[in-house]
Amino acid sequence: DVVLQCQGLAMTYAEGKLRTPVFQDLDLSVRKGETVAILGASGAGKSTLLHLLGGLDTPTAGEVYVAGERMSALSDRARGLLRNQALGFVYQFHHLLPEFTALENVMLPVLLDGRSRSATTAQAKQRARDLLEAVGLGHRLDHKPGELSGGERQRAAVARALVNRPACVLGDEPTGNLDEKTAATVFELMLALNRDQGTSLVLVTHDRRLARRLDRVLELHEGKLRQLDAAEV
Ligand code: ADP
Ligand code: ADP
Repeated sequence: DVVLQCQGLAMTYAEGKLRTPVFQDLDLSVRKGETVAILGASGAGKSTLLHLLGGLDTPTAGEVYVAGERMSALSDRARGLLRNQALGFVYQFHHLLPEFTALENVMLPVLLDGRSRSATTAQAKQRARDLLEAVGLGHRLDHKPGELSGGERQRAAVARALVNRPACVLGDEPTGNLDEKTAATVFELMLALNRDQGTSLVLVTHDRRLARRLDRVLELHEGKLRQLDAAEV
């Protein structure tokens, strides 16, 4: 019941003549329902790792498996579909589409899901509405991102990440640009999702207090991923 896995993962950015590996030979396995925090100094490679795990970038070496599928074996289209079906992404900066309303932004992943030719627009809309209500945005369905506060945008981004009921949510500082209270709300929302639906979470964070609430805390340091024990977090 592994939902997300990497083996021997390595990444080197080709940048001029300077080619320093961000990391080499990383292994990670995330089981269904498991919550994992990734800590590490700025520049340690946390975002790089998350991008590779999410199939948003191609590793220099090694393999990523999403829901048991080897990402490198898939066509771009199949990879995109699998990503949209199995994973949800929440970034520090929300990446909502500015021309669309909150409701439309949250519906979009459903409409892009190749499986669900059966899911009608009405069903997608209903699910998006339910989720926006769950994150406390029932009164903001028709607002565009520019008309929402920072916290509201982030909650909308969480709703969008969850709309296809992904097996795993990947968060890159998902609460990083929020005030403490809003950050706590968004974080609790993700924990509730884990509790109620068994969604796995892999969250990059600087916040050790939040990290402590997850099942495992890993630190990325000098290209190695090390599990911290409770006393170290
Ligand atoms: P973190 O998320 O831990 O702050 P990143 O994964 O963003 O770290 O970056 C890890 C290293 O890779 C840094 O040295 C960074 O400068 C470099 N890096 C990140 N993205 C790129 C890129 N697109 N091109 C070249 N170097 C990059
Ligand atoms: P916060 O304190 O969370 O940053 P804001 O002060 O930015 O919140 O916004 C307060 C409320 O006003 C929010 O509910 C937001 O939806 C609404 N709002 C903010 N900007 C606009 C706008 N340009 N048009 C419509 N509603 C807005």
